[in-house]
Amino acid sequence: SSVLHFLQDSTLYLKVDPYKYSLAMAEYPPEITADEGARLTEVTKDWALAHGLTVRPPPAVIASEADPQGILATAVPVTLFPSPFPKVCFEQGVAVQRAYNELYATISQDEEFLAQIVQEIGDSDDFITEMWKVHLRVKEEGYVQHKSLGLFRSDYMVHQDATGSEPQIKQVEFNTIASSFGGLSSQTSELHKYLSSAEYPLLSKSISRDALNLPPNNSAAGLASGIREAFISYGASSTGHGKCVIFLVQDGERNIFDQRHLEYSLQSSTDPVIPVFRLPFSETQRQTRLAEGTGRQLLYTPPHLQAHTFEVAVIYMRSGYGPGDYPDSRAWEARYHLERSAAIKCPSILTQVAGTKKVQQVLATPETPSNPSILGRYLSSSSSSSLSALASTFTNIYPLDTSEAGLKARKIATDLELCKGYVLKPQREGGGNNIYRTAIPPFLKGVPEAHWPSYILMELITPPPVSNTILRNGKLEHGGVICELGIYGTCIWDQQTKTISHNEQVGYLLRTKGDQSEEGGVAAGFGCMDSCALV
Ligand code: ADP
Ligand code: MG
Ligand code: MG
Repeated sequence: SSVLHFLQDSTLYLKVDPYKYSLAMAEYPPEITADEGARLTEVTKDWALAHGLTVRPPPAVIASEADPQGILATAVPVTLFPSPFPKVCFEQGVAVQRAYNELYATISQDEEFLAQIVQEIGDSDDFITEMWKVHLRVKEEGYVQHKSLGLFRSDYMVHQDATGSEPQIKQVEFNTIASSFGGLSSQTSELHKYLSSAEYPLLSKSISRDALNLPPNNSAAGLASGIREAFISYGASSTGHGKCVIFLVQDGERNIFDQRHLEYSLQSSTDPVIPVFRLPFSETQRQTRLAEGTGRQLLYTPPHLQAHTFEVAVIYMRSGYGPGDYPDSRAWEARYHLERSAAIKCPSILTQVAGTKKVQQVLATPETPSNPSILGRYLSSSSSSSLSALASTFTNIYPLDTSEAGLKARKIATDLELCKGYVLKPQREGGGNNIYRTAIPPFLKGVPEAHWPSYILMELITPPPVSNTILRNGKLEHGGVICELGIYGTCIWDQQTKTISHNEQVGYLLRTKGDQSEEGGVAAGFGCMDSCALV
């Protein structure tokens, strides 16, 4: 394939044109002197701490008992400059987001298709199997809530082929659960705007804000307004208790301030007033119960307000996306308890399964006579141009089953040479789960062949090189970086009436990692926050 060729031929790689910078951008991001670096470090770290561009301290600090009262925060790693990002690519991602929202809202309503996906993944994946069991149990007694909220993030990297053609974005993955960093991302855009403020030059050769095309970024407020819409859409409380929103969280979450920004934005709503509570997933059964009767309203009594009970309108899950959140059957009972309740879930089980990499692979699998394109089926009302706009963001993804495409993929995945242009992915979220390049064949040797269909094999996207300076733990790292763009979307739909009542694109995320690192998760410790300077 072309990507493979591209990776193997390093001379070709060097000939690839970097982004076409305008003349004014020729020296961007700029080289900085040691003194400028020291000043930028001081200014950036203080701005980050003062504006909640922060996470809780790392486990080592916690373990050293330096923070017994949990009062410390630490600045998130950030780039000093917004990374140059092709304007056409940014606009491409923004333009397709509402179609993506619609696509995943529609897939979430197609239980039959998702059942088939779960079957194809097979019982080698206990996590997906258990999740599906929860759905089947609720289906059996009947869902009492037909509305769902999606806070989505579609992730991309820039792809430019060896001919130096117009760059295009290719989708890395589509997230339907706990799509994070929206809270920190709008802050990062503000930081970069501040650092390029013409009034307070930080560099001897100052880059003014006017010279940079910095797109506005309403990710925090936008995601919060999706939750607000769902809160309203839930309707009036029918138990006599006031309504509330629950953020379902993990114990010991380090990325808490990202969540807090959404919370504060929600709480700034005055009509309606929206009470928000953080509930650790592990406390679900202790602190919530279902109302008597057939309505199954979810009731929540905060531990600090024993005389106060709320009816939960929306559950926003920032937990529950991986096996680590389900250590025992009690945790699965908790998920079942929430799923069968009348609260609007973000996400429901169906929506979470819709976000698996297996679904992404099936969508990206090209049309053949025996396998008609399911994309067309889902976006039946959309124009063919929006269909092709979506499809143009797909890169090659293969199943690892015994179909024709699967057998071809097995050949690649077990060959130490061919595997170099690929990444192997299990059905997992949250970073750190993938297997890259030459690690794939030895990894598969340790997996029984019967379990291979629970993985997908994806071509690596190789963006043109960009350089930047990252401030991490108070130290500057300068070098080649790889950027990953995420576009956020919010969507509310009704499974029963098959209607979408809300569909918005809300801001973006740019995450950047050193070009020597395969994974880019900020929380996982590899990446950093960034924003776009459109070129
Ligand atoms: P997760 O759901 O765990 O975030 P991802 O599919 O996003 O899984 O993979 C994690 C990271 O691996 C991405 O953020 C990206 O840095 C890298 N990655 C994944 N797929 C590709 C790909 N096709 N090409 C290049 N890098 C990739
Ligand atoms: Mg993901
Ligand atoms: Mg990801």
